[in-house]
Amino acid sequence: MSSNDVLEKLAKLRSKVRDIGSKSDGGSSFTTITAAAAATRASEESKARSKISEMSAEVVDSNPYSRLMALKRMGIVKDYEKIREKTLIVVGVGGVGSVVAEMLTRCAVGKLILFDYDKVELANMNRLFYQPHQSGLSKVEAARDTLLHINPDVEIEVHNMNITTMENFKIFVNRIQHGNLDNGKVDLVLSCVDNFEARMTVNTACNEENQIWIESGVSENAVSGHIQYIEPGKTACFSCLPPLIVASNIDEKTLKKDGVCAASLPTTMAVVAGFLVQNALKYLLNFGTVTNYLGYNALADFFPNEEIRPNPNCDDRFCRQRQNEYQERLANEPPKEESVEEEQPIIHEDNDWGIELCDDNSEEIPEETSTVAGKGLKFAYDAPSTTSLQQQTNGETTSKINAADISSLMAQLKSL
Ligand SMILES: [Zn+2]
Repeated sequence: MSSNDVLEKLAKLRSKVRDIGSKSDGGSSFTTITAAAAATRASEESKARSKISEMSAEVVDSNPYSRLMALKRMGIVKDYEKIREKTLIVVGVGGVGSVVAEMLTRCAVGKLILFDYDKVELANMNRLFYQPHQSGLSKVEAARDTLLHINPDVEIEVHNMNITTMENFKIFVNRIQHGNLDNGKVDLVLSCVDNFEARMTVNTACNEENQIWIESGVSENAVSGHIQYIEPGKTACFSCLPPLIVASNIDEKTLKKDGVCAASLPTTMAVVAGFLVQNALKYLLNFGTVTNYLGYNALADFFPNEEIRPNPNCDDRFCRQRQNEYQERLANEPPKEESVEEEQPIIHEDNDWGIELCDDNSEEIPEETSTVAGKGLKFAYDAPSTTSLQQQTNGETTSKINAADISSLMAQLKSL
């Protein structure tokens, strides 16, 4: 066959594919793309692996778990296979949450419960995970397809809904209570949402259910982010004080203009997703140190690492209740290392960045509160004037962060 014949045959084939696409859906190019993608997926599915009942450490090319199980041999994790008993809820599977879900799936968690109500768009393609052919699909369903393909051993439950409505909040709470593999409480909730209301909703549910969760965020200018481990009663909840964010030292006027969409970078999102899952794994498998607050300033490669204590006057009554319970637990425990640790007022005396979160000298709190939390960190919203900052009574057990007039701050938050 001459090369001209081949070209002619190819042209005919292309036109046939176009015909099939247009007959099935009024000629939209989207259908043609989807049909091609479906064909690709069908061929990929034929290569999908079957389920594996037990994780093995056997070092063979065909074992998807050999590298994870090697963590045991290296002495990092005692019982890596316990990961398969764990269930996590991921709220928000956008730029951070989708990568978080993929990492957890590759790490072989037992079950993932995903909440989101968005659809995949071409405007998301600067980020990781989703692909152009998934445009128009709900994020949770597109995520489930991909995740099951990567690791069919993980159970994936999805909820295409907004958890901030009354009805859906009940479903969210129910999944915290009964979502795990034995219909019991989940092990951890990860918040990967991009708005205040959804974070407050996760906070309310987790305080009520005494559920440990980790919050995450990436700034609208795409160059900073953070994670925050929240253990009700032990560490500050999301209502205890305004969210602590990493200062990027960029003119604030460039942010939050109406009609201007937020910027995003796959790099920053992947760093934050990595921090989040790393700390989730450390918490779930009991190795290393779980960080309370870890920030990231991409412009300076600065990583503030802090401890944030709860606010005894938190607006959330369940938070106050959990604080009392935690204090009772501490009081009933024999004196151990942990209780000694709780009494340490200053945690970064010799840090490399000169951060002083717990400075007792409240006179030095600046009138301009944009840097109240220390070098490189600030609250997401302005704190009130210094007079109200003097009202702190429990200086021994609360950090300088808690010194802000929380009620006034929360009033400001609510008015936003
Ligand atoms: Zn609180």
